[in-house]
Amino acid sequence: MSSTEREQRLEFLGLTPRDVQSLKALRPLFEKHIIAIEDAFYQELLAFPETARLLRDHSTVERLKKLQRDYLMRITDGRFDDAYFEDRLRIGKTHERVGLSPCWYLLGYNIYFKLFVPLIRGFFANDPDCAYESIVALEKVFMLDASLAMDAYIASDRYRHLQQLESIVNDSADVIFALDAENRIRSWNRAAERVFGWRAEEILGKPLAMLVPPEVLKMGELQRIENDIARDGHCHLETVRLARDGGRVPVEVSVSLLRDPQEHSIGRSAILRDITERKRLEEDNLRAERLAVIGAMSARLAHEIRNPLSSITLNIDLVGDEIEMLAKERAGAADEARSLLRSIDSEVRRIQRVTEDYLQFARMPKPRRARISLNEAISQGISFMDSLFAATGVRVETDLNDSLPAIDGDEGQLWQAVLNLVRNAIEAMPNGGTLTLRTARVRSGVSLTIADTGKGMTEEERQQIFKPFFSTKPSGTGLGLPLVQQVVAEHGGTIRCESAPGHGTTFIIELPCAEESIHAPKS
Ligand code: ADP
Ligand code: MG
Repeated sequence: MSSTEREQRLEFLGLTPRDVQSLKALRPLFEKHIIAIEDAFYQELLAFPETARLLRDHSTVERLKKLQRDYLMRITDGRFDDAYFEDRLRIGKTHERVGLSPCWYLLGYNIYFKLFVPLIRGFFANDPDCAYESIVALEKVFMLDASLAMDAYIASDRYRHLQQLESIVNDSADVIFALDAENRIRSWNRAAERVFGWRAEEILGKPLAMLVPPEVLKMGELQRIENDIARDGHCHLETVRLARDGGRVPVEVSVSLLRDPQEHSIGRSAILRDITERKRLEEDNLRAERLAVIGAMSARLAHEIRNPLSSITLNIDLVGDEIEMLAKERAGAADEARSLLRSIDSEVRRIQRVTEDYLQFARMPKPRRARISLNEAISQGISFMDSLFAATGVRVETDLNDSLPAIDGDEGQLWQAVLNLVRNAIEAMPNGGTLTLRTARVRSGVSLTIADTGKGMTEEERQQIFKPFFSTKPSGTGLGLPLVQQVVAEHGGTIRCESAPGHGTTFIIELPCAEESIHAPKS
């Protein structure tokens, strides 16, 4: 409470120096009766269940009586200074904290009056004016004290209310923040810290644009939101926002106008719900649906195409032999025919490759689990590919951890997955390079890392590689990695990819190990 507020309150009560004199004159009376007054006061007060409940303990009541006696004697000092005000506010707060309703506070003063007035009348029996003035002065002081106690009640009530609001905002699972009229961030709750990675002290005062990806800014989204708010006072939309690490967070946003008590706009409040998980589920469902369609379709397609293809391949060989015979007679025509045949052959091979990619899905039954060694599966598979590596100038390095626990899996499908990754790696290194296959123990089981020194990919590509049909190759199907992902998922594992243009690509697969090898000692 400021000194002007204090003076104002005293002035309002009209507490004059004369009143102070009257109070001082009461001192001998107070000294004489103070013990009896306090006893009578508490007797009356404790007759009510609510107060009796609070003041059950005899020693507490005795302590309070002593405090009250000091208080009443202090009144007859007539010093209503800073310290006096502070003490009364503090005592009001204490009453509020123990849960005594403010009405008891006022009723208490009523009891004092009933006790004091007859005493004062008797004390100044010969001078009724003097008695009257003392009673009025006492009333003014009691009113002052009651008003200060009320202040304490109101202040702590408001404080509690604010604290409640603050904890609601802070504990909300949704991001909640406020913007001022210049679109600068003015509040930031815990969910906001979690979702965006900025701590409150780092982001307060910063412009909202910091949370908006540049591509979204460019499309004028903030302006559209402003227009909606100008028209309707609020705005809801689904969009993406930018986290501190540059990641995009899909969010559901609702923005509303913030107004002061006079209804003037002072900024915006924003509530953002992180819908990453929902989006992921939607995408997973979409992917599963697509893969199922591909599976069904390719089973038919492959069947229709594969047989004719085989016979075409066979016939190409036969025609080749015929041409060699004819070449002895007409060399020029034979050259021409050979080149045509080569081009037919390469197209057929291409169709075969595509058919194989589709067929992988068609053939994908539920994995047949067996106890297998990942290391063995890899070294065996790789050994059959030597000629391919030699032809493409790819050097293979393996680093297989020999204490690798066994896993439960379908060896055929797992090799199929590895093969897809290896093929991609070879295709990413048209001028040769190094392919590294590494196995290791990890907390969740075993890991398999397949790294190449090829052309790598952009962040945008990396985000899409597991989508069916995503391919950057002229004759790619974009079905290799979706298959890998499917196999890994069926085995309860995870796959991730690290890559940068010009810096090669690394795929990391983690698979759970077979049940009993979890506790097996490292050999
Ligand atoms: P496809 O090989 O038929 O294109 P995939 O699903 O196997 O289909 O791969 C999808 C895309 O992912 C490729 O087209 C390529 O852009 C990218 N990719 C996959 N593996 C690598 C790699 N090791 N290096 C660079 N890019 C890769
Ligand atoms: Mg591929």
